[in-house]
Amino acid sequence: MAEPLLGAHMSIAGGVYNAFLHGKSVGCSTIQIFVKSNNQWRAKPLSDEEVEKYHQLQKETGIHPVVAHDSYLINAASQDKALFAKSREALKIELERCQTLKIPHLVMHPGSPLGAGEKVGLATIARAINEVFDELEDKGTKIALEATAGQGSHLGYKFEHLADIIGQVKQQNRMAVCLDTCHVFAAGYDIRTAEGYKNVMAEYDRIVGLKHLAAIHFNDSKKGLGSRVDRHEHIGKGELGKEAFGFFLNDSRLAGIPKILETPKGPDYAEDKENLKVLRSLIKK
Ligand code: ZN
Ligand code: MN
Ligand code: MN
Repeated sequence: MAEPLLGAHMSIAGGVYNAFLHGKSVGCSTIQIFVKSNNQWRAKPLSDEEVEKYHQLQKETGIHPVVAHDSYLINAASQDKALFAKSREALKIELERCQTLKIPHLVMHPGSPLGAGEKVGLATIARAINEVFDELEDKGTKIALEATAGQGSHLGYKFEHLADIIGQVKQQNRMAVCLDTCHVFAAGYDIRTAEGYKNVMAEYDRIVGLKHLAAIHFNDSKKGLGSRVDRHEHIGKGELGKEAFGFFLNDSRLAGIPKILETPKGPDYAEDKENLKVLRSLIKK
């Protein structure tokens, strides 16, 4: 098996292209970025210089592919008209920025309908995606729905939710999925043993389809199985344990899929380096 695609979420402070330099410094072969500031609605358009420098640095560092993650402000399941409209618009802008940067996947949190119920929430998310796709021609970037821990009323904690949304999207060839080890475990999918991993992946494949899988977030979990609490922990330091990551890393069906850390880190990236070292040690030669 070829060296797996391993990396971490990297900062874009000072320019989107800076993420490649951070990624290179810790030995990432793939990275995840926000395509704009993740806690503000507004974004300055990408300048031609920034885009050019981004492509140049991607070529120089050889980091490929890049995965984009949507802003935490977006809630496409919102029943509040103003927040829904803002979310849909932001999603569209982010997808457009991904197209400009030639990023193949934009990971999206499905959203939270609060008290409106799951059925209404799932339909609202699909409506937002349909409207965005109607307004933006297909240039190859897909939306990858992220499996969630199911904290609060967040949808996506069952594989059925992801399949339901994709089923309601008209341009299904523009849809993909992102799994997150912490989220699926907190949602109740036990991937701690070889047997458990096999069953969960078979269930995922049956309900959503392995062919839709675009990326995997590699996070251990501070909270237990089925806790529905989303708290990331360093690899091997949480309730999930490091063996689970070995199952993903040594699964030949997932060889071409980027596996990305979203664990806490300081400015020197020491934690990323350590987590990547632990992950590489789990790969069977
Ligand atoms: Zn996420
Ligand atoms: Mn994640
Ligand atoms: Mn999370």
